[in-house]
Amino acid sequence: MLNLRKIKKDYATASETVHALRGVSIAFRKNEFVSVLGPSGCGKTTLLNIIGGLDHYTDGDLLINGKSTKDYRDRDWDVYRNHRVGFIFQSYNLIPHQTVLGNVELALTIAGISKDERVARAKEALDRVGLSGQYYKKPNQLSGGQCQRVAIARALVNDPEILLADEPTGALDTVTSVQIMELIKEISAERLVIMVTHNPELAEKYSSRIVRLLDGEITEDTDPFSDEDEVLECQNQATEAATPPTTEKESKKQPREKAKMSLFTAFMLSLKNLLSKKGRTAMVGFAGSIGIIGIAMVLAFSAGIKGYIASMQDDMLSGNPITITETAYDLDVLSGMMDDATKQEIIKQPNRVYINSLIKYMVTMQDGLENFVSHNEITEDYVEYVKAMDPEFYQAMCFGYGIDIGANLFTDYKNIAGEDMNVSVSYLTDMYTALLSSTEYASLAYLIPTLAPSIAEAPSNTEYVLDQYDVLSGKIAEGKNEIMLVVDRDDELSDLLLVKYGYFTGDEFLTLIEDAIKEDKDAITEGLRDSYSYDELLGKTFTYYPTDTVFSTAEVMGQKVYSYSYDSNSATFGDKADGIELEVVGIISPKENTNYGCLSSGIYYTEALTDEILRLNKDSSFIEQLNSLTAEEIGTSFTTSLGESTLFGIVYMFDYYLKSDLGSDAEPTAAKSAGVISYASGGMEEMVASSAGQQVTNTEKRDRLVRTLGGNSLANSITIYPLSFDSKNLVTDYLDKWNDEGSLTVGDKTLEARAEVSYTDTLELIISIINTMIDVISYALIAFTSISLVVSTVMIGIITYVSVVERIKEIGVIRSLGGRKKDVSHLFNAETFIIGLLAGIIGIGVTYLVSVIVNAILKPLIGYANIAALPISQAILLVCVSIGLTLISGLIPASSAAKKDPVVALRTE
Ligand code: ADP
Ligand code: MG
Repeated sequence: MLNLRKIKKDYATASETVHALRGVSIAFRKNEFVSVLGPSGCGKTTLLNIIGGLDHYTDGDLLINGKSTKDYRDRDWDVYRNHRVGFIFQSYNLIPHQTVLGNVELALTIAGISKDERVARAKEALDRVGLSGQYYKKPNQLSGGQCQRVAIARALVNDPEILLADEPTGALDTVTSVQIMELIKEISAERLVIMVTHNPELAEKYSSRIVRLLDGEITEDTDPFSDEDEVLECQNQATEAATPPTTEKESKKQPREKAKMSLFTAFMLSLKNLLSKKGRTAMVGFAGSIGIIGIAMVLAFSAGIKGYIASMQDDMLSGNPITITETAYDLDVLSGMMDDATKQEIIKQPNRVYINSLIKYMVTMQDGLENFVSHNEITEDYVEYVKAMDPEFYQAMCFGYGIDIGANLFTDYKNIAGEDMNVSVSYLTDMYTALLSSTEYASLAYLIPTLAPSIAEAPSNTEYVLDQYDVLSGKIAEGKNEIMLVVDRDDELSDLLLVKYGYFTGDEFLTLIEDAIKEDKDAITEGLRDSYSYDELLGKTFTYYPTDTVFSTAEVMGQKVYSYSYDSNSATFGDKADGIELEVVGIISPKENTNYGCLSSGIYYTEALTDEILRLNKDSSFIEQLNSLTAEEIGTSFTTSLGESTLFGIVYMFDYYLKSDLGSDAEPTAAKSAGVISYASGGMEEMVASSAGQQVTNTEKRDRLVRTLGGNSLANSITIYPLSFDSKNLVTDYLDKWNDEGSLTVGDKTLEARAEVSYTDTLELIISIINTMIDVISYALIAFTSISLVVSTVMIGIITYVSVVERIKEIGVIRSLGGRKKDVSHLFNAETFIIGLLAGIIGIGVTYLVSVIVNAILKPLIGYANIAALPISQAILLVCVSIGLTLISGLIPASSAAKKDPVVALRTE
C-alpha cells in the first residue's frame, strides 16, 4: 500500500548539505510488522517522518495506494496524517496540561468530531491499551510505560491504516518494553506497523520483516515486497471495495475525508492551557488591564462630570435665565474678533525694520466691539409677542422697566445724634457715603452705593421661588404691600445692605467702621452687632411715594432746580402723603440643593408693586417735564445748584451729622451735603457698550432717569426662566420665530417686517464651553493613558511568543496528528483572545469597583452620587478594544507558531 521510489532527503545546513536519505526504494504490505534497524544518524527517523507525511522528500516519489504524492498540498498531507497514520514517539510527546483522555481525544478533536463521540472513542482506545480508570490523570502522574500506552491509544484512536513508531521502547525498561512490544504486535495484526528500533532482539522477536539502513541507504530487507506483488494487492483491494462494506468499522471510515478543528475547539483547548497556568494568566490579564483601567477611568469621569453638569442644568438655569435686554452682546463676534486681529503676512526683506500697525489693530478691535454690542428695540409688539408665549414653556417671566425705587422709598432710621428720622433709601446711601468721606477712609466711600444691592422685583411665580428657597420665617412676599429678604446659603446678609435699608442705626454704622479699622483685631468692639433675630428683621416698614410726591421743580434765577419736596420738620410729605406701605413679611434662603437660584441675597418686592408704581407714575407731571426737555436743555438742566457740573441726575441738598474723629466721645456735628438721584446704571451691558465707544447720550440718560423713577411702562428687559433645560429650546425657538422672515400674528395684529431682537442664553454657552473643555481634557488624558495600553499590548505579544516557545512540542504533536497550520494559529489566537477578554473584563471590573469607591467618597463632598460613571456601551467597546489589541499583538507569534516545521518542533527538547 506504500511504495517509496528512490526517496532522497537532503538537509541544507549552514556549512554543508546532509544527505539523510540517498535514494531509498521500498514497498510495504497492507498488513505487516516492519522493523527498521540501523545505527544512530543513519536516517531512520527521517524515513519514518517522510512515510508519515510529516516531512517531505527532496527527490523521488511516495506512492500511497498506487497514487503519487508529488502533487500533494499541505491540506492533503494533513488529511493523510489525521486519518491514515498514527505516530508513536520515543519521548511519548504527550501534552502535559491535558488529561490522559484529552490527549487521546486530540486526534479526534482535530478531525472535528463531536465531543460525545470523541470521549466514547478515546475511552475505548484507552481501555484497549489497558488504561481504563486512568482517564483523568495528567501525564506527569503516569509511569513511562503508561505514557507510552497513552501515546499508542492516541495513535490508534483514529483507526489509522499505518502505525509509525520511532523507538517506542527507547526510554523504557526491559519488562515494560516487552509489554509495549506485545501491544504493538497485537495492533499489527490488522494494520501496517513500521517501527524504528535500536534493539535487534526485539526486532527479531516481534516483527515479520526487518529492514536495515546505513548512511541513508537500505542494506538489507528480509522480506522485500515487489511492484508486482503490489499490483496484486491493489487489485484485491479494488474487489474488496466493490463489495459493500460488511463491518460497521469500515462503513464509518468512508465519509471522513477532512481534518477540521472548529474555532470553538481551539478556544476550549486554549482555555484549558490557560487554566493550567492560572497564576500567570491572571498576572498577564491584570497587566493587560492597566491601560484599559486608565482609559476607562478617564471615560468614567468624563461621563460622570457631564452627567453632574447635566444634573445641575436645571439648577443653573434659574441663575442663568434667557434674557432680552436693550443692549445685547454677541459672543460669536468676540471669538471672531480674536481671529480677525491677525496681521497680514508680508514678505520681509533683510536689513529693514517693519512697522507693526497698532492703529490698524485698534480699528479692528473697535469695529469688532461695535458689532459685539447690538441694540435691541423692545417694542410693544415684541412685548405682546413674548407674553403670548405658551406658559407651559417657562416657569416665570419677568419684565424689567429700569426702575430703581431707592429715591422713592422711605423708611425709619436713627441718626448718630440719636434722632428718629424718616428718610429715603437714596438718602441713607448718600448720607453714609458722605459720613465715611469725612473720615480718613474717604477713599472707600464710593463702595457704599456700588456694593449694596438695589431692591428688586422677584419672579411672580411663588411656586417656582419656593422650589428653590426655604422660608426661614414669615411668608413669601405676594401682595403689592409685601417685601421679603433673601439671605445667602450661610444665612447671611451684607452689612451694607442692612445699612442701606435702615436696619443699622447711625451709631451702629460707626461701630462697624471702628471695628474694621481698629489696630488690635482681636479686641472686642463695644456695641458691635453681629446678627439680627428674625423678629428684628421682620416687620420693618417702608413707604413708596410716587415721583410727583417726592420731587418738585422750581425756577431759580432762570434755571430749573429739581428737588425733594420733603418737609424735614414734619418728616412727611405733608398733605401729599399718598404712599404705599410696604412691610418685610418674610426671610427666605436657598434650599440645600439650590446652587444658583433665581434670587441672589437682597431685598425683593412683587410684580404687583411694579404694576402699581407704573400706574401711579403714569400721569406724573414731573416725569412729563423731564420728558419734554430738549437735548440742549438736558445738557444744562442737570448741573448742580452748588455750581459743580458733576454726575448727571437730580441734585438735592441734605443735612446730616458727622463725626470725623471716630472712636472719640466727641459730640457729632451738623453738616450739609449734596446727593444725586441718578439714572439706574445699565450694569454690565453699559460697561460693555461704553468700552465699545458707545457713550450714553444725554437724551438716553434722561430716558433712563425717567425709567428709574418708574415713568415708562414699556419693558426694557425681559427675563424668562424656562421650565427645564430640556424645554429651553422651546423658548428660544419661539423667540427665534420673531426674527424669521414672513408675517407673524400677535393678538389680532399681523406683523410683516420686524426689527431683529437678539436674546442672551448664557447657560447654553457655559455648558458648551464646559463640555468642550471636558472633551479636550479627556482626549488628552486618553492619549496619555494609551501609552500604557501600547506597552501592555507589546507585553502580551512577548508573552504569547514565550507561550509559543513553551508549546512548541504541542505544536509538533498537533501537526503530526494532522492539525492544519490554521489550527495552530487558531490555537494561539484563541489564547490571546481569552487574555484580551480577561484583561478587558478585569479593567472594566476594576473601573466599576473604583467608581463605586470614588462615588462613595465624593458623594458627601459634592452631593452627587455618580461622578464616575462609565457608560455600559463604552465598557463593552473597551473590552472589544482590549481583545482587538491583544489579538493583533498575538498575530505574529501565532503565525510563527503555525509556520513551525513539525519535524523541527518534535525534535525540540
Ligand atoms: P536516526 O533517526 O537514524 O538516528 P535521523 O533520521 O534523525 O537519524 O538523521 C539522519 C541524518 O540527518 C543525521 O545525520 C542528522 O544529523 C541529519 N538531520 C536530521 N534532521 C536534520 C535537520 N533538520 N537538519 C540537518 N540535518 C538533519
Ligand atoms: Mg532517530
